[in-house]
Amino acid sequence: MTTSVDIDPRHKPPGVEGAGFMATSLDKVVGLARANSLWPLPFATSCCGIEFMATMASTYDLSRFGMERLSFSPRQADLLMVMGTIAKKMAPILRQVYEQMAEPKWVLSMGACASSGGIFDTYSVLQGIDRVIPVDVYIPGCPPRPEQVLDGILKIQELARTEGRNRRQSPEYKAMLAKYGLE
Ligand code: SF4
Repeated sequence: MTTSVDIDPRHKPPGVEGAGFMATSLDKVVGLARANSLWPLPFATSCCGIEFMATMASTYDLSRFGMERLSFSPRQADLLMVMGTIAKKMAPILRQVYEQMAEPKWVLSMGACASSGGIFDTYSVLQGIDRVIPVDVYIPGCPPRPEQVLDGILKIQELARTEGRNRRQSPEYKAMLAKYGLE
């Protein structure tokens, strides 16, 4: 079989040599795979969860982003989506779910309640999930519109695509986890 382009496999084409070329390319491939195969765990406790259901439904169709496979098992999820009011009694459960997820993992805080306690400035409500677990992206609103949820997920995808494969082993990342008392 003949082709219109002559390729000589004995010689490398220009541009495939030099320090860091292989690592950079592998990072891109891994990032692309991670970003487009996120498995979200919906930790929905109240009304924001209903808005997420609308985001999943046919009008907004979250599966367009490769996200139709929700996981209710932390060990098979890499994106924790916290949606709704988190009572202080529930905080240890949320933290346990986070700890059960394998690295790499990301956290999306959807709505005012998850991000800051929202209107529930009371003794029983956690004033933001970032008091117990690290958060990657916050979505403002009460409740946020599905478009905002999609925007937040796109930002998580951008993070997954662009962060290096070894970021999770970096001293900065370990120091951040240590602040939360996590390993
Ligand atoms: S942010 Fe608003 S819509 Fe979302 S859980 Fe809180 S009260 Fe409900």
